[in-house]
Amino acid sequence: MTFRGDANFDTSTVSRGGGGRGGGGAIAVGGGGILTLILVLASMFFGVDLTGLAPQDASPPSQGQSQGEEVTGCTGEDANDPANVTCRMEGGADSMSRFWTETASANGIEYADPRVMLFDRQVETGCGAATSAVGPFYCPPDQAIYIDSTFFQQMREQFGASGGSLAQLYVLAHEWGHHVQNITGQLERVQQGDSGPQSSAVRSELQADCYAGAWIAGASQTTDDDGGAPVLVEPTQQEMNDALNAAHTIGDDALQEMGGGGVNPESWTHGSSEQRMNWLARGFNEGVGACDTWNAPEV
Ligand SMILES: [Zn+2]
Repeated sequence: MTFRGDANFDTSTVSRGGGGRGGGGAIAVGGGGILTLILVLASMFFGVDLTGLAPQDASPPSQGQSQGEEVTGCTGEDANDPANVTCRMEGGADSMSRFWTETASANGIEYADPRVMLFDRQVETGCGAATSAVGPFYCPPDQAIYIDSTFFQQMREQFGASGGSLAQLYVLAHEWGHHVQNITGQLERVQQGDSGPQSSAVRSELQADCYAGAWIAGASQTTDDDGGAPVLVEPTQQEMNDALNAAHTIGDDALQEMGGGGVNPESWTHGSSEQRMNWLARGFNEGVGACDTWNAPEV
């Protein structure tokens, strides 16, 4: 997905921070051997997985959250540079902010953007200390999305998913979808420990995928402040295939197969490859209104 070269981004949404702050330990994942690997892989992507680890009173960790340094001055050209993940996230955040502000207002929903924190190695959050091993996640108490800067490289090397720019933006858009769910109260419908292809956990993940698809379709309609020209050019079929490929790669069944332990649908928390591709495509083709995974008889 290509940004208009001379587009200017100024969202004050994205910050860079983390890295060596305090001595924060890894989040305990539990289990041993392959099981740990699978759990780490599964939680690497998009999880609301950390929701359950959030302290109930949502009190900030003793070292305080990293506030980070605001990312400023990115242009569309910077965001198109394959090596410049920071500006790509900033450009994506600019577009998602505009898309969701408009969509929420059209639906009478009070909306505020999440914070997006890019970090290296480790970061302190309202959901506890996180390391790069956790991968991208949304932390509800902070209303913040955390993304490790090296994640997309990992995604390509370890999972074979295309590292294409739209695939990267899909990751951000999915986490943004969890933020929208948090605002609308839908995130609370996830029951702790619930799993399986039709579970509340999977329905929540598929809705976030659907919201991501709706943003992809709406992105080329969002405009920047100067001149009102679109920020993003409509995605090509190849780029859309990249995003669908990413959704396929991180399906629970694909991850279980990769882990070598056999496919066990009852343990799914994010949805199969087919489910994830279907809902991403549904959001893209039909928009936000088609994303009610909660009342769909089957997802
Ligand atoms: Zn998710």
